[in-house]
Amino acid sequence: MMTSFIALEGIDGSGKTTQAALLYEFFSSNGLNSILTQEPGGTPLGLSIAQFIKSNRGTTAFAESLLFNADRAEHVEQIIRPALVNGSHVICDRFVGSTLAYQGYGRGLPLEKLIDLCDEACQGLYPTINILLDVPVHTLDSRRGIGNRDAIEASGAPFLDRVRKGYLELARKSPRQWAIVDGSQSIREVSMEIQSLVRPYIYG
Ligand code: ADP
Repeated sequence: MMTSFIALEGIDGSGKTTQAALLYEFFSSNGLNSILTQEPGGTPLGLSIAQFIKSNRGTTAFAESLLFNADRAEHVEQIIRPALVNGSHVICDRFVGSTLAYQGYGRGLPLEKLIDLCDEACQGLYPTINILLDVPVHTLDSRRGIGNRDAIEASGAPFLDRVRKGYLELARKSPRQWAIVDGSQSIREVSMEIQSLVRPYIYG
């Protein structure tokens, strides 16, 4: 059986967590094994890193990229690869694309170096498909509760707009690895589109 590794990407509030859960339900209701995981936070190390970054606004971009990739190295070895080997599909809320979009396009680190760093961390294990939930930054205002902002979200609209455009550029540069979904549609519409995108990867 073919197993697929599906990464959901997009700026904070674009609907990744919502859609990851719906995709997990879709797999389950079709009798397919899958795991739902996330970066950072898919491992105990990742949870600590996520907490640290949330509560330390001054972390430099480079340190941030190392921390996220430390989590990724652990996550790939302990969770993602074993699941795929055991015949499970993997749904991952954020992966390498997030580092490139946030620390690269958003915070200005050189993309080539980040690509090398991410490649080391994931040991060449990349998603079968990255699904970008694309939403204009202003859409988020109506979605996000006050108090729901972490250090990165608090960087503001111009930052998130750079990240969004970075994601779009990544997706357009590698159309075989990326699919762009209009994340401003209803939750149901987005989820139907994601299901039709993943079908070929599941059933071959
Ligand atoms: P992310 O994981 O990308 O940060 P979430 O899935 O947590 O995003 O969604 C952020 C907020 O927006 C949640 O309150 C969620 O219910 C809401 N939301 C998600 N998708 C949609 C959508 N398509 N339309 C309207 N609201 C949405």
